Amino acid sequence: MRVLVSGGAGYIGSHTVLALVAAGHDVVVVDDFSNAKPTVVGRLEALTGRHIPVHAFDLTDIDKTEHLFATDTIDAVIHFAGYKAVGESVQKPLDYYQNNLGSTFSLVRAMQRHDVDKLVFSSSATVYGTDQAGATEDRPTFATNPYGWTKVMQEQILRDIAVADPDMRIALLRYFNPVGAHPSGTIGEDPSDVPNNLMPYIAQVAVGRREKLQVFGDDYDTPDGTGVRDYIHVEDLAAGHVAALEKLAVTDEPISTWNLGSGRGTSVLELLRAFEKAVGRELPYEVVGRRAGDVATSYADPSKANAELGWSTQKTVEEMCADTWRWQSQNPDGYPD
Ligand code: UDP
Repeated sequence: MRVLVSGGAGYIGSHTVLALVAAGHDVVVVDDFSNAKPTVVGRLEALTGRHIPVHAFDLTDIDKTEHLFATDTIDAVIHFAGYKAVGESVQKPLDYYQNNLGSTFSLVRAMQRHDVDKLVFSSSATVYGTDQAGATEDRPTFATNPYGWTKVMQEQILRDIAVADPDMRIALLRYFNPVGAHPSGTIGEDPSDVPNNLMPYIAQVAVGRREKLQVFGDDYDTPDGTGVRDYIHVEDLAAGHVAALEKLAVTDEPISTWNLGSGRGTSVLELLRAFEKAVGRELPYEVVGRRAGDVATSYADPSKANAELGWSTQKTVEEMCADTWRWQSQNPDGYPD
C-alpha cells in the first residue's frame, strides 16, 4: 500500500514510517513541523535507504490537503498529526479542538472525495477517562481535559462516518504509554519544551539537562504508592499500526477499536530504577505532590488486539530504557535544527 502518514515526522509517526517501509509499503509524510524537526527526515532516509516524500503543511488547510490527494495515489492514511499536551490543552482548548478536529475533518473529506477507504487513527487510553485500569475496548469513553475530549470526539466522529459509509475501514488505536526509541539511537522522542511525560524527563535528568526528577505523588493506592502505567516500546506500537493497517485490508468491519499496550503496569519508581540500570548510576529525584488529573493506575487489556491482529508487545521495560538512553546520550539536545 501507499500510505499517507500524517505527523510522520513526530515521535510515533517516525517509528511507524520505518515499520511501514520494512513491511514493504510506500510512505508519504505530511507534517507541519510544529512539533518535529525536519532533520528527522534525513535520518529516516538513512535508516531505510529510501527517499521519503514529505509535504510540509497544516492539515487543517483544506485546499492543500485536497491538492495532495489529487496529485498522489494514496491507498490508506495513518493519522497521527495532532496537539498532545494535556496541560496546554487546558490553557488553549480552542486551539486543541480546532487543530485536532479540523485536521481530521479535512483528511476524511479528502479521503472520501478520492475513494481512499482505509484510516488508522491515533487514539489514546485517555478516552477511558479515570477508568484506565485493565481497560477493555467496550468501556464507555469520556475525558478529563480538552486534549482527551478531542480524542473522544474524533473517535465518535469516525464511528458516525463508518455508519454512514460502510465501505470505510477505520481502526481506532488506543495507545497506552509509548516510550523507547529506535535501537540505532538515531530516532527518538524530542520534546520541544520541558517534557510532560515521565520517560523523556528521566532521560533528560540522566543526560544532565534537568537537575532531578519530580515524582508526582507516592501516596496512591499502588504497590509502592507511585503511579502505575502500561509502558509500550514505540517499535511495538509502530508494529501495531502495520498490523492494524493490514487487518483493514481484509476485514468486513467498517470500524474497529484496539488497545495497544502490554497489559502490565510499571510504577514511577520501577521505571526510574530500570532507567538507572541502563545508565549505570543512580539518578536524583524528589517526591512532590500529585499532579492534577492523574489516575493511580492505567494498563491495557490488550487481548482483543492480540487475538484479532496477531500482535503483542515484544520488548521489555529494560529494552525501553536501554533504547531511550542510547537515543538521549547520542542526541543530548535532541535532533539538530
Ligand atoms: N510522572 C512523574 N514525574 C514526571 C512526569 C510524570 O512522577 O515528571 C508520573 C505521573 O504522575 C504518572 C506517570 O509518571 O504517574 C506517567 O506520567 P506520564 O505523563 O508519562 O503519562 P500519563 O500520566 O499521561 O499516563
